[in-house]
Amino acid sequence: MQSRFVRSVAVALAVCLVVPGLWARVQPSHGFNLFSAQEENQAGQQAAADVAKQLPLLPESDPVTKYVQKLGQDLVAHAPGEKWAYTFRVVNQKEINAFALPGGPIFVNVGTIQAADNEAQLAGVMAHEISHVVQRHGTRAASKQMAAQLPLAILGGVMGKGALSQMAQLGISFGVGSYFLKNSRSAESEADLLGTDIMYDAGFDPRQMAVFFAKLEEEGGSRGPQFLSDHPNPGNRAQAVSKEVSTLPRKSSYRGDSAEFKQIKQRVASLKPLTAEQIAAQQKQANSGVSSIAPSTSTKAFSHSAYQIVYPENWQVFGDQSSAVTIAPQSGVSQNAIAYGVMISAYQPEGNSTTLDQATKDLLASMRQSNPDLRQIGNGETIRVNGVSSRSIDLIGSSPIKDDSGKVLQERDWLVTMKRRDGSLLYLVFIAPDKDFASLRPTFENMLKSVTLK
Ligand code: ZN
Repeated sequence: MQSRFVRSVAVALAVCLVVPGLWARVQPSHGFNLFSAQEENQAGQQAAADVAKQLPLLPESDPVTKYVQKLGQDLVAHAPGEKWAYTFRVVNQKEINAFALPGGPIFVNVGTIQAADNEAQLAGVMAHEISHVVQRHGTRAASKQMAAQLPLAILGGVMGKGALSQMAQLGISFGVGSYFLKNSRSAESEADLLGTDIMYDAGFDPRQMAVFFAKLEEEGGSRGPQFLSDHPNPGNRAQAVSKEVSTLPRKSSYRGDSAEFKQIKQRVASLKPLTAEQIAAQQKQANSGVSSIAPSTSTKAFSHSAYQIVYPENWQVFGDQSSAVTIAPQSGVSQNAIAYGVMISAYQPEGNSTTLDQATKDLLASMRQSNPDLRQIGNGETIRVNGVSSRSIDLIGSSPIKDDSGKVLQERDWLVTMKRRDGSLLYLVFIAPDKDFASLRPTFENMLKSVTLK
C-alpha cells in the first residue's frame, strides 16, 4: 500500500516537473470591493499626485529610480490578475518603508535599499507591494469602511454615484499617512504568499523576503517600525513563505545580485536621505503662510437639486447636485473623516406625518449608530432659516484630529434640520474641533443663513 502511494506521488511530481504550468500559483482573491478598475486607477493616480507633492522623490532620471523601475517591471511581468499600470518611484527617506497605492503606483524608501543585504531582499519588498496592488487591498479596506458608514452617508440621500464620489463624501483618501495604506494582517498574509510566487517566477529566492522582514523585526530600533506598522507581521511569516515555496518545483539555484544592484548599493550608501521628522518639518514650512482652513471672505454659491447654499470661495464642494455633499477646506478633509466643514444630506423619517422635532430625534439616533460617542449638549432650539422652521442642536464627539501629544481632540458638531415639502429632512452638520469652533461659527452661520430650499 505504502509503496503504491509513494509511486503515485512520484508520478504526479514527474508530471508537474515536465509541465511546470501545472504547479498551482496563488490566485488573486476577490474580496468585497465598491471600486471599478477605472475608479481604482483614478483613486491611485490622485493619491500618487499628492505623494509627489508631500514626499521628497528622487528624480525619474536618477540611476536609483531607473534601477528600481527596471527591477519592478521584471517582477510585474510575473504578477497575475489585472494588468495594472504599475509605476515605481524612490522616496528620499531614511526610514525603511515601502507602500503601494490602488491601481499600481509603488513607492520604495531609500532606507529600504540601504538596508537590503542582497537584491532578492529588495525584490521581496517590491513583490510584496505589487501583491497589495494585485489583491486590491487598499480599495477593499476602503470599501469595507464605506459600507460601515453608508447608513449615515446615504440617509435618504441619493448616493450610488460611484465609489469615488462616495469616497470623497466620506473624506476617505489614500494619501500619505492614510489609514488605508496600513494593511491588515490578513492582507499581509495574502501579499506574502502572492509575493512568494512572483519572486519565485522572477528567479529570486522568495525566502529572502521573509528573511528581510524578520531582520526588520529583530532590529526594531528607529528604522524598522514604520514598515512593520504599515505591513504588520501576520504571524509565522517565514514559515508561511517556506511552506508556499515547498509547493513550487525545487530550484537548484536562484538569481544572484546583479552588477547594477551592487552599483546602486554604493550609490545609496552615499545618499543622505531625510528622516520622517525632517520631511514633516519641510511640509509644515511649505504650508505656513497659507492658512488652508481659514475661510476667505469672498464666496461662491452651490446649487443642489434640493437647495442652494453660499460658501467661502477657498473651500471645496465634495459631491454633486444630486448626492450628499461635503463643503470643506481641502485640508479639513483628512484621512477617513471630515475635521472642518459642513456635511449636507437628506433624511427620510419613518412615517410622513412625523413632526420636525421627532424626525430630528430619529436622525440623531441613526447618526449615533455610526458615531457612538456623539453626545447632545442642551435640548436644542427651534430657529427659522429663511422663513423655514428648523431645529438646531449642538453635539460633541471625537475629532479625527489629534493634538501634538497624540490625544484625540474634542469635536463640535452643529446639526440643523429643516423639513422639505416632501416630508423628508434636509440636514446640515457643521464640524470643527471644539477649540476652533468659535472662530468658524460666523462662517457657519453665514452659510446657514444662505440656505434656501427648492
Ligand atoms: Zn504589506
